[in-house]
Amino acid sequence: MNTICAISTPLLSGAISLIRMSGDKAIIIADKVFRAFSNKKVSEMNGHTCAYGRITDGEKILDDVLLTVFRAPKSYTGEDTVEISCHGGAYVTKRILGLIISTGAEPAQPGEFTKRAVLNGKLTLTQAEAVMDIISSEGERALISANNMREGAVFKRITDVKNRLVSLLGSLAAWIDYPEDDIPAVDEQSIRLTLGGCIDKLTALMKSYDDGLIFRKGVLTAIVGSPNVGKSSVMNMLLGFERSIVTNIEGTTRDVIEESARVGDVVLRLCDTAGLRETSDTVEKIGVSLSKKTLSSARLVLAVFDISRKLSDSDKELLSSLSPKNTIVVLNKIDLEKKLDNKGFEGFLSVEVSAREKTGEDALKSAIEKLLCVDAFSSQETVFASQRQKSCASRARASLETALDAFNAGETLDAVTAAVDGALSPLLELTGERTSDAVINEVFSRFCVGK
Ligand code: GDP
Repeated sequence: MNTICAISTPLLSGAISLIRMSGDKAIIIADKVFRAFSNKKVSEMNGHTCAYGRITDGEKILDDVLLTVFRAPKSYTGEDTVEISCHGGAYVTKRILGLIISTGAEPAQPGEFTKRAVLNGKLTLTQAEAVMDIISSEGERALISANNMREGAVFKRITDVKNRLVSLLGSLAAWIDYPEDDIPAVDEQSIRLTLGGCIDKLTALMKSYDDGLIFRKGVLTAIVGSPNVGKSSVMNMLLGFERSIVTNIEGTTRDVIEESARVGDVVLRLCDTAGLRETSDTVEKIGVSLSKKTLSSARLVLAVFDISRKLSDSDKELLSSLSPKNTIVVLNKIDLEKKLDNKGFEGFLSVEVSAREKTGEDALKSAIEKLLCVDAFSSQETVFASQRQKSCASRARASLETALDAFNAGETLDAVTAAVDGALSPLLELTGERTSDAVINEVFSRFCVGK
């Protein structure tokens, strides 16, 4: 394998930057650019040891650095690896990287270190995807579930399903090939149990992925309501700072603007939408159609109403288009005299707030956590790291359902066998045991360079 190198820390000014190099020539290259103050050569250093010394380009001193050696196979990639911790300036870091490249290393592709770790059997594909998740985790639950995955939780669960299917295939083959022999008769109950059990396991994993998404990707949240009810003000209250300019001119929020706000362990991706009303103003019309789109794809809808006025026709229209399943009714302006009665809000989770006075904020946050069932989700649960893993599981489940249907319909065992067999290959693809280059490349293209 060629020797690759990259800067593994962000290219910003900081205390320390890390440059990583992996491959057969890593140690030889390091010896050419680095001289330890102890005069010990890098090639004489043991794995997992580090030396203090100087990087020079010919006569020119570049930096005093700490150099760590990892020897194959005991390294992240499984290859000889050298890590250089230099001073954290963008220029000096790039200068050292340039020197290493001119000495014979090649710039790494995104995720190439982790890809090599997978190809060298140091990590499974699902563990590599978990590494990606750890880097992008925002919040404790996301981190815990990413770490569970890195520990191999997905791999174990899928392997368990796979093993059951392989053993079922063994029995099916015996029944098909040696029907007259002295083997026990087809055990219909156990076939149904195995297929049903595997379907249930895959379903649970897929559901845990969907639940986990709220911690990992945030919750798409639409703030809707008639003009002037206080949508921007509610959004600002959640954001904790003034983001959009609040005015009392109707229809001033023309675009759907996305911002992130944290509620406990959940990140809300808030969309403030233009008032959902019919309008002749073209610019506002665009905003309205965007709002409707956001409303239909939102996981959470905050429907804002102004308690100081009676429900207008557009309020009623909006209310009728909402579902209590994903909507919280936010009754705003409780600092003013109440003119609104609670008719029409039955069945909805509702909270009273004054966005202007910033009261009711905690009640709103608790309502959000309640609606999203944050507590019900256990971070210990195994969650797929990616849509890729989920879609593999989904294909496997579809095949198993076909197998079960075929079996229940009294079709031949050959037909059942073919369908069970069809479930194995997406599972092998999921764990990375049988994966095309295209899939591997797709997974690693999402990584950053240097990881
Ligand atoms: P939007 O059009 O729905 O986004 O509404 P805005 O957030 O722009 O607010 C419209 C007007 O209502 C502004 O004048 C706000 O100051 C006012 N407003 C918003 N929230 C409250 C509140 O809780 N109490 C009172 N009294 N006024 C509010």
